[in-house]
Amino acid sequence: MSTPILACKGCGATKPEPDTTPTDLFPSEHCGECPPWTCGDCGEQCSAAALCSCWIRFNGMALADIKAVFAADGFFSLGGLGTTGGE
Ligand SMILES: [Zn+2]
Ligand SMILES: [Zn+2]
Repeated sequence: MSTPILACKGCGATKPEPDTTPTDLFPSEHCGECPPWTCGDCGEQCSAAALCSCWIRFNGMALADIKAVFAADGFFSLGGLGTTGGE
């Protein structure tokens, strides 16, 4: 028995086993399955098909860099790893 991995905090999507994507370790705030949401940073309506302006700056960045930015931001919850990130 394996515990499904929470892949998205927005819609609660899970996956049955690691697939080597970042959500193995950090659930994403939102995914392609999520309904449109309001961005907590800029307040714009945001969806998988039409990301808000916050995301534009990540275009062309390496995935490792993006993860580092999110980790520094506390954008991802690290609660599942036993660290709280100062919240
Ligand atoms: Zn989702
Ligand atoms: Zn935004």
